[in-house]
Amino acid sequence: MSALLTLPQAQALVLARAHARAAEPVSVGAAAGRVTAEPARALVDLPPFPSSAMDGFAVRAADLPGTLPVVERIAAGRPARRALAPGEAMAISTGGVVPEGADSIIPIEYVVQHDNAIEAREAVRPGAHVRPRGGDVAAGDVVVEAGVRLGPVQLGALAAAGVAEVACARRPRVAILATGSELARSGDELAPGQIYESNGLMLAAALATVGADIDALPVVADDESAHRKALERGLAADVLVTSGGVSVGPHDLVRAIEAELGVEEVFWRVAIKPGKPVSFGVRGETLVFGLPGNPVSALVGCELFVKPALRALQGQPEPLPRFESGVLATPLQRNDARDEFVRARSRLDRNGVVLEPLSGQESHMIARAAAADALVHVPRGDGELAAGARVAWIRLDGA
Ligand code: AMP
Ligand code: MG
Repeated sequence: MSALLTLPQAQALVLARAHARAAEPVSVGAAAGRVTAEPARALVDLPPFPSSAMDGFAVRAADLPGTLPVVERIAAGRPARRALAPGEAMAISTGGVVPEGADSIIPIEYVVQHDNAIEAREAVRPGAHVRPRGGDVAAGDVVVEAGVRLGPVQLGALAAAGVAEVACARRPRVAILATGSELARSGDELAPGQIYESNGLMLAAALATVGADIDALPVVADDESAHRKALERGLAADVLVTSGGVSVGPHDLVRAIEAELGVEEVFWRVAIKPGKPVSFGVRGETLVFGLPGNPVSALVGCELFVKPALRALQGQPEPLPRFESGVLATPLQRNDARDEFVRARSRLDRNGVVLEPLSGQESHMIARAAAADALVHVPRGDGELAAGARVAWIRLDGA
């Protein structure tokens, strides 16, 4: 038997076919979770005017210490009617426009207030508590680079910089098709021999975190014409993800029928555990992933191949899973032929992240996997990784 593809080889084959797709304008109010297609630039200086960082009095530093008449009161949103003249003070709120002529703010706590005057016993540093115009960002400067998934901070920054609409990668349409005659819908009564369908739901939730626009197709039985119809429909999407039916059994129809429908297979089977029978192909611009039916295998295939492809389709510059570093709490046996991904629970101790492998690592044990927040990478090789060994792991709860 020819050697299986390694994980990096297979991932490279996927990414070589997952190019950034077209962009579209998106209003900032609807852009959470979207990925920028171009650098987004500030439309205004931020702050747009010199503004006060404190509640206090706008003054000329040169006039202090001393007693100054308060000639105007400036609220946020309402600039002074005139410039500050030498020897004057204007009351000002945080965020108020520092008037022409003033160079500093003296905070309210540092003055003694008389009827219409303030007495300041100490000097102020010129520029104290004044936020200069454009001190955060200048109009025309980049606020968010291209290829960034927009979270709350980026959205706040764009809105503050006057950006109302941002060019984002179109969300990839992802058709998800679970195959298997044994699959019952959640909520239905199980007939003899049935199990509940779980992969479709799990994959939809996982892929939504990386911006997929999901089309969940109805489950299909292991029947050729049902497969043909459903796969043809799924191939209209940007990405088709199937679960089940990619092994070597007589009811494993997915790859054969995809081939009939014009899918060119790029690979089938990768040296990973679980998830070895994963397949990947293309038809035109559509990327086609065949994940194995065992739920943990489907999960691992989704993390290692499908999520990276979706990130790449949206132009994210580092689409592969982000590995973090931790140490094992208990030893793990290595597999001499395949890289293994072990479900574990992470915790923090004084030295950083410790990973506790869960009991029950078989690929059908999705209920056990529910307690995990980490997939630990155990590179193939001989012997074991000892307790305390440093390992790379993928966080399971994030995007
Ligand atoms: P398969 O890859 O089709 O041979 O399926 C492997 C195992 O995964 C079998 O035990 C199936 O019953 C199970 N399985 C397949 N698809 C699903 C699914 N969508 N949800 C839960 N289990 C599944
Ligand atoms: Mg099956």
